[in-house]
Amino acid sequence: MTAEVVAARGARGTFGALRLEGVTRRFGKAVALSGLDLLIEGGEFLALLGPSGCGKSTALNCLAGLLPLSEGGIWLDDERIDGLPPERRGFGMVFQNYALFPHLSVRRNVAFGLSVRRVGKAETARRVDEALRMVELTEHENKLPGQLSGGQQQRVAIARAIVLRPRLVLMDEPLSNLDAKLRVQMRTEIRRIHQDLGLTTVYVTHDQEEALALADRVVVLRAGRVEQIGTPEDVYTYPASTYIAGFMGYRNLLELPVLSAADGRVTLGEPDGPELTGVAQEAVEGTRAVAAVRPEDFRVAASGQDGNALSVRVEVSEFHGREVAAEGVTDGGQVIHFRTPERIAPGERVTLTVPPERVLVFQGEGDG
Ligand code: ATP
Repeated sequence: MTAEVVAARGARGTFGALRLEGVTRRFGKAVALSGLDLLIEGGEFLALLGPSGCGKSTALNCLAGLLPLSEGGIWLDDERIDGLPPERRGFGMVFQNYALFPHLSVRRNVAFGLSVRRVGKAETARRVDEALRMVELTEHENKLPGQLSGGQQQRVAIARAIVLRPRLVLMDEPLSNLDAKLRVQMRTEIRRIHQDLGLTTVYVTHDQEEALALADRVVVLRAGRVEQIGTPEDVYTYPASTYIAGFMGYRNLLELPVLSAADGRVTLGEPDGPELTGVAQEAVEGTRAVAAVRPEDFRVAASGQDGNALSVRVEVSEFHGREVAAEGVTDGGQVIHFRTPERIAPGERVTLTVPPERVLVFQGEGDG
C-alpha cells in the first residue's frame, strides 16, 4: 500500500451507517420517490439502478441536500442530516457533465474545495498531489480542462471529490458521456479507488453491467420504489420479478399458461405446443405465468431431445466472433433469442434445450 493510500484511509469509518427512512419526494402530484428505506454501511459501494424516470437522481439529490424531502428522514449514525444544507453534509459529488471550472488548471480545479475550506498551503499541496497520483493525472496538472479527453476530465472531477475526504461520495451517471471503451476503463478506475480508499459511495446508473461490476450491493428502483436489494450475484442470479429479470439479461420473457406446478417446478405451455419446465417460488395451475430465459442458457441440440426442447426456425443470425447471436421462431409464433458457437443460417430448423434450473418462472407479471 502506498503512503498516500495509508494517509487517505483516514477517511474510512467516519460513520457506521447512513439510514434513509421513508424518504419520499413529490413534484406536485407526481411521486418521484416513494417511501425509500435504506441502510448503507460505512465503506460500502451501493448502486442505484433502474431505467430513466425511476427516481434514481431524485434519491441522490435528496441525499446530497439539493432537493428537500417531502416526507421521511436521513440519519448519519445518530445525526439527522436531511435538514442540513449540502455544504454542511460533507459529501463529495461527481456528475456526468464533470462541472469543472474551464479557466482553472487541473491542479487548481482539484485544489478548489480545499481553498474554500481554508486548508493550509502545504497540506493542500500534499493532498492535491496525492489525489492527482491516484487518478493518474500528475503529468497533466497544468493543463486546462478543455485540453483533456472526456475520460481525463472525469478523472479530474473524481480527484476533486476525493481530495476532500468526504464522508460519502455521490456519483450520478459519471460515465455516461464517455465512449464504450473509456467507460469500461474508468469503471475499473472507480473500483480501484474505492478499494484503496474505502470511501462510502452511492452510484446512480441505468446500466446493469456497470452496477454489477462496481457495487457491493445493488438497489433496483421501479417507479420511485425499491423492487429488489441484493448483492450483484443475488440480483443477477435470482431476480425478484420479470422487470428485474428483463434488466438482468433475461431477454426471453415468454408468457404461457401454467400446465402443472409442484415442489417448486412449474411446467408451462400452450395446448399442442412445446412445454417448458422451470423453477418458481409459486405458480398456480390454470393461470398464466412468465418464463424468463437468458439467450446464452439455450443450447442447440440434436432434434428429438426430451425435456425442455423447443424447435425453432432461425430468422436472424448475427456473427459475434466466438459465437452467433440468433433469433428463432417457434411454431406457436414465440420469438426466441439464443446464442450458440455453431454456425447457423436463417431458414434452418434447430432444437434448443435449456436446463429447468435456468428457466425462472414468475407468476402474475405479464407486464414484464
Ligand atoms: P434519468 O436516468 O432519466 O435521470 P431518474 O431515474 O434519475 O431518470 P429522476 O430524475 O429521479 O429519474 O425522476 C423521477 C421522476 O420525477 C420522473 O418522472 C421525473 O419526470 C420526475 N421529476 C424529476 N425532477 C422533477 C422536477 N424538477 N419537476 C417535476 N418532476 C420531476
